[in-house]
Amino acid sequence: MVSCQSKDPVERQIDDLLSQMTLEEKIAQMTQVCGGQISDDIAEQIRNGVGSMLNSVGAEADYYQRIAVEESRLGIPMIFARDVIHGFRTIFPIPLGQAATFDPAIVEEGARIAAEEAIQAGLRWTFSPMVDVARDPRWGRVAEGYGEDTYLASCMGAAAVRGYQGNDSIVRMAACVKHFAGYAASEGGRDYNSTWIPEIQLRETYLPPFKAAIDAGSLSIMCAFNDLNGVPASANKHLNVDILRDEWQFDGVLVSDWASLQNMNNQGNSVNLKEATKLCMDAQMDMDMESKGYPRHLKELVEEGKVSEKVIDDCVRNILRMKFRLGLFDNPYCYTENPEYFTPEALSAAQKAAEESAVLLKNNGILPLNTKYSTPHTKPMVLVCGPMANAPHEQNGTWCFDKDDAMTITPMMAFRDLAKEGKIILIEQKGEHWSREFNKENIATLARLAKQADVVLYFGGEESILSGEARSRAVLNLPGDQSEQIRAIKATGKPVVLTVMAGRPLCIREDIDRVDAVLYAFHGGTMQGVALANLIMGKVAPSGRLPMTFPMGEGQIPFYYNYKMPSRMMAKSPKLINDIPVRAYQFSVGETSYWLEYGNKPLYPFGYGLTYTTFEYGPVVLSDTSLVGSNSLIASCEIRNTGNCAAVAVPQLYIRDVVGSLTRPLRELKGFQRVEIPEGETRTVTFEISEQDLAYWHLAEGVSLGSEGEYTFSAEKGDFYVWIAPNAAEGEYAEFALVE
Ligand code: BGC
Repeated sequence: MVSCQSKDPVERQIDDLLSQMTLEEKIAQMTQVCGGQISDDIAEQIRNGVGSMLNSVGAEADYYQRIAVEESRLGIPMIFARDVIHGFRTIFPIPLGQAATFDPAIVEEGARIAAEEAIQAGLRWTFSPMVDVARDPRWGRVAEGYGEDTYLASCMGAAAVRGYQGNDSIVRMAACVKHFAGYAASEGGRDYNSTWIPEIQLRETYLPPFKAAIDAGSLSIMCAFNDLNGVPASANKHLNVDILRDEWQFDGVLVSDWASLQNMNNQGNSVNLKEATKLCMDAQMDMDMESKGYPRHLKELVEEGKVSEKVIDDCVRNILRMKFRLGLFDNPYCYTENPEYFTPEALSAAQKAAEESAVLLKNNGILPLNTKYSTPHTKPMVLVCGPMANAPHEQNGTWCFDKDDAMTITPMMAFRDLAKEGKIILIEQKGEHWSREFNKENIATLARLAKQADVVLYFGGEESILSGEARSRAVLNLPGDQSEQIRAIKATGKPVVLTVMAGRPLCIREDIDRVDAVLYAFHGGTMQGVALANLIMGKVAPSGRLPMTFPMGEGQIPFYYNYKMPSRMMAKSPKLINDIPVRAYQFSVGETSYWLEYGNKPLYPFGYGLTYTTFEYGPVVLSDTSLVGSNSLIASCEIRNTGNCAAVAVPQLYIRDVVGSLTRPLRELKGFQRVEIPEGETRTVTFEISEQDLAYWHLAEGVSLGSEGEYTFSAEKGDFYVWIAPNAAEGEYAEFALVE
């Protein structure tokens, strides 16, 4: 891979440097250590050539970098890394919330701002984006990714890479797409659990977002913790060599996840750290993050002839290449003592992202509030309450080490401002509250306050610590006594708007049934309070759409929109558990595919979201009824705003391959747009469909199921359905055929 580039000046510099390095220095270069303090031990490791640090920030990072450049033998700069996941100081919505915007420009802008802030603290490498396609909301890390759909995750992951890295020849901040691969498929939604993913599904569902991020230029990629089909991802040669290096020709850095070599002993595929080290080298993993396997055992493994120095050279080349692409040799120092954080530009981008990420799930007409109670002479009496109403730490969500709660605007603060401006009369719930609280007195107080109000704005959800890494939940309710609080408030007869600030889809059907409107807002970051006040008051119309299917209950999980058709049809009107007569005859229920408690539909489908107007979608019009070879088809549809305010429609292009040599999903997302449509007006949206959009991974001709390794990515001739629809469950399709 590298030899063919030997004329490239960067490759020549790498070769030159490599030729001067001792084996010890090479191994040190492949080692990432954790900072967080000034220590003589770390300083000594750096003098000996350690290549990278994580979690060393600001003046500390600068101190260590000066040692690397000025005191190590070859002066190779280090690269400082951190989990800058949804903002550095200015926090944007969690990635799942960003996915709900269906707006890659928001993701790109958020990543750009995060990088620009982080660089000022000496950081040039972020462990983001996480593009694990996640279909199980019990898994707490759904918060960190872009949801259940491969295409959406690919678009958003690529946008994040562009944002972090920029378009210049010198990369702004290296992205690290993670976790390679299959991590989100952990059995039962339990974090770190093993995964079994057949090759076809791996390629069809889980790998494309990684490929999209690499095609967008991601300089690095991180291994997953899980074992995939029996082999820990860190040492999985099929993933890390066959696919990543040989098929995709990736010449960036493959880094382990935190201590994942040690984890391999827990997983029982290696007896000790030395064996895990050897297995990871066999799979060409370039850098060891805090496992200590490389610094402790690699030299010995080379001396014993178990690892070749050639493999080590390849790893070091990849690491040095990333450093050259970042311009670190010319400009190793980027820390500044007077950083610019929370600039007006950053705050306004974070606010826009939070506004676009909230999804209106239900509205019986109570929202927007401005049209309900305000006249020139009256103002609404608004009770603002609930555990997330004034909880800056919680609304920032998981993974934001460098946030500033004092800069975070909560809903309570935003409504206080509205009260000061004379737009509402505010009734505040006092005291500190948290999502897991059980407190009878609090419930009684809430009911009393609700009686005084015209409308109750209840901000509920999950504290940030309940989602993210290692935060799997088996019961996806509103924790604590939140449901009871809502019941008590509703019993006063006052209208209730429930805003959910959470790290995952929750199964809260009964809470939703009880209230008048629901905004699902995820953890929205620094400016979420302002964003929510704008949405609730009608200054901004909601435009978020669900990036994951919302199940009726945990028992439907995993439930995602692009499932395959079952062998027996989906019942049109399934007979539910209480409709079945006693001593029913074995076949009386009708042998169709559904759950006795819920039927076969989710609570809300993927792509769903309401706004303050209504949109009418016309039929899908195709430019032709057949698609021939390299030509493309144009699918279009008229969307009319039939309500009385301007808003953003999010038309989604879905395709179904009616018959395939392998069974095909019911629908697959292939495109989406955000279109602002003024009141009463119509817009025509168009999507182009090419043969490439119809291609999928299937068995090579003549190969039978069960054979390994002979797959092909191509479209098969035949009929296809096309929808341009407001979500994955609505709309009428048009039909075309792919012909020779
Ligand atoms: C997580 C990674 C993260 C790393 C470094 C691990 O526990 O799985 O996503 O980048 O820690 O903080």
